[in-house]
Amino acid sequence: MSASRHPALFAADPELASFVAAEEVLQAQTLRLIPSENYVSAAVLEASGTVLQNKYSEGYPGRRYYEGQQNIDRVEALAIERAKGLFGVDHANVQPYSGSPANLAVYLAFAKPGDTVMGMALPMGGHLTHGWGVSATGSWFRGVQYGVRADTGLIDYDAVRDLALAERPKVIFCGGTALPRTIDFAAFAEIAREAGSILVADVAHIAGLIAGGAHPSPADHVDVISTTTHKTLRGPRGAMLMCREEHAKAIDKAVFPGLQGGPHNQTTAGIAVALHEAAQPSFVSYAHAVVANAKALAAALLERGFDLVSGGTDNHLILIDLTGKDVPGKIAAKALDRAGIVVNYNTVPFDPRKPFDPSGVRIGTPSLTSRGLGVAHMPQVADWITRSVDAAAKGDEQALAVIRAEVTDLMAAFPAPGLPLS
Ligand SMILES: *Cc1c(COP(=O)(O)O)cnc(C)c1O
Repeated sequence: MSASRHPALFAADPELASFVAAEEVLQAQTLRLIPSENYVSAAVLEASGTVLQNKYSEGYPGRRYYEGQQNIDRVEALAIERAKGLFGVDHANVQPYSGSPANLAVYLAFAKPGDTVMGMALPMGGHLTHGWGVSATGSWFRGVQYGVRADTGLIDYDAVRDLALAERPKVIFCGGTALPRTIDFAAFAEIAREAGSILVADVAHIAGLIAGGAHPSPADHVDVISTTTHKTLRGPRGAMLMCREEHAKAIDKAVFPGLQGGPHNQTTAGIAVALHEAAQPSFVSYAHAVVANAKALAAALLERGFDLVSGGTDNHLILIDLTGKDVPGKIAAKALDRAGIVVNYNTVPFDPRKPFDPSGVRIGTPSLTSRGLGVAHMPQVADWITRSVDAAAKGDEQALAVIRAEVTDLMAAFPAPGLPLS
């Protein structure tokens, strides 16, 4: 298979090529439920693997420190224009290497070491870079953290306001990695205004839903939008920072020369293609189908007796709380993996267990929706999850092997974008 798709790679480095080929098979055969992952299109894959790789372009279009930018400038300018159009913002920077460096650039633009910054606590669903202790953002800055209510699993906006007014953080982050519910950007904006803070919406997970109109946009409410490009947005691994004109200079200066050197032009090209794809009517359907699938999967899991954090989902993501089951998150995640269903174990809010061995499993529907699975398939997916968790409890490896065969069978009928089955 891969030998014909990557002939030069197979000839030059068969060992490495064999790993890539095996990964293609794995991604084709498994049911991938990690909510931060997806399948890029063949066009995005091609754009990301071009000779743009060979070029150094420190600076920005029209203002570079190296010559020979005739084509690179057009690539980056196109990506910027598409980002501005798709997200309705004044300014876009498409150079951050990934989501974490993008967030670091935001701190660099608006805060000094030792300043107070505020974000959602990691175990509550926030991201490491929102000021959590083990991250540079939590050791170079003084991170104060909000969470969700124990009774509802929802963000407690009154508590967020109290904390913000008491701490007056330079920067407030909203958004996260395990939030199954709609983020109220207007409520955060009101709080940030009262506290005199810069408000950042980190929409890494939901950027594709926003682009497709399946989640409200933060564009009219926040100072800065930070996003990865490789999750629901279905682009290459990378990131973007978007803002109003008043913050454009500070953001650009922070990314380069503040934090980075030359941009990854091949990635910029892939981002441009992904943004073009995300502006098509078919992507609106995709984004809404992701949410419809997640709601159907959540309903099917609830019917089968699972506890879900916040009782369900509004977006692409479901956080299963296994506290009431005999199987902790890691054991369940590893059993699901053996059954051909790829998930990640995750903390749940107020988790009684340790972060490396927590009580939750985090799943989502971006990848399966990219393959064309619909709401009619979600009871089947819920059945497989139920049977896998039961099998994990009993140590029934045979049952997991049976599920794996069933999964492989269904996946063969739904070829993934960028991965034609041979
Ligand atoms: C994924 C994610 C990031 C980090 O992105 P990387 O590309 O992995 O560095 C930052 N913030 C949020 C909310 C994320 O979900």
